Amino acid sequence: MNFPEKLSDFKCVTALTPTICTLANVRIPAQCTEPPLEAVLNEAEKILPAGDKVEKIFLYAPDAVGIHIWERHPEHLKRVQEVAPVRIPVKTVMPSVTPVCFGSMFSGATPDIHGIQKYEKPVLTVETIFNVFPEDNHPTLISSVNNCSIDCIFRRRPITYISNQEDEQVLAYTKLALQNFNYDLVVSYSTGYDKNTHAFGPFSEEALKAFYYNVDSFVSIAGWLDTLWKDYNRLLVFCPDHGAHATSDNHGGHGTDMPEDLYIYHFYSIKKKGK
Ligand SMILES: [Zn+2]
Repeated sequence: MNFPEKLSDFKCVTALTPTICTLANVRIPAQCTEPPLEAVLNEAEKILPAGDKVEKIFLYAPDAVGIHIWERHPEHLKRVQEVAPVRIPVKTVMPSVTPVCFGSMFSGATPDIHGIQKYEKPVLTVETIFNVFPEDNHPTLISSVNNCSIDCIFRRRPITYISNQEDEQVLAYTKLALQNFNYDLVVSYSTGYDKNTHAFGPFSEEALKAFYYNVDSFVSIAGWLDTLWKDYNRLLVFCPDHGAHATSDNHGGHGTDMPEDLYIYHFYSIKKKGK
C-alpha cells in the first residue's frame, strides 16, 4: 500500500454521521463520539450561502472498496473525484466486516458502544441517522440487497426499506423511488465488488468489473441527481464500509487490521441549489 496521505490524516469511519447531520442541521445521534469532518464543513462554507443547509443527501455505499483498488486504478479515482472532489482518507473500525463498519458509519458510535463486534446482523438499538432524520421529518430510504447487513441492522425505523436480489435492481429501484417520492436522505448499497472479491480475489477480472460498475453507477446517478435535485442544496457521498485483501488461495477477504482492509476513501460532493 502506498497512499499519499499520512496515517495521522485518516479520520474514523464514525465521522460520516456527525458530518451529514451538521450539514443538514439535524441533531447528532446520542451515542456518536466523533466530531464532524472539518474538510467537508469548510467545503460547504465555500459553496453554500451562509446559514444554508443541505436539503438532500445521497449516500452510495459500495461494499469493500478500499484504497488498494484506487491505487491500481487512478483513472477511476479521477472519475469519482471529478464528481465528488472532497476526498477523505478514512480508517474503518475493527473487526473490518460489514455490519460492524456500517453500524459505526451510520450511528457515529464505535463497535463497543453500538454492540456489533463480529459478523452478525442484529437490529441496532443505538440511535442512527435512520432515527434522527425521520424524527426531523426527512423522508428516508435504504435501498439494498436482500438480507445484507445494511438491510438487516437498521430495521424498525420509520423509513422506507427496498430490498432486491441484484445490484442492478437495487440501483434501478433507488432511482424509481427517488423519482416518485420526495426522499431527503437515501442510502443505496452495492454488494458486487465484495461478493466477487471473496469468490475470485480483489483484483480478479470479476471483482474489477464490479468495481467499474460502482464507479459508473456513482458517476451516472450524480449526473441524474443534478437534474432531479436541481432546486435543492445537496450532498453526495461515495462511502464504502471497509477494504479487502488478497488471500493466498486466490480469493479475497477482510476483517483484519491489515491496511488493505482498514483504509478507505470517502468522497464528498456539495452543490448549491440551481447549480
Ligand atoms: Zn465481504
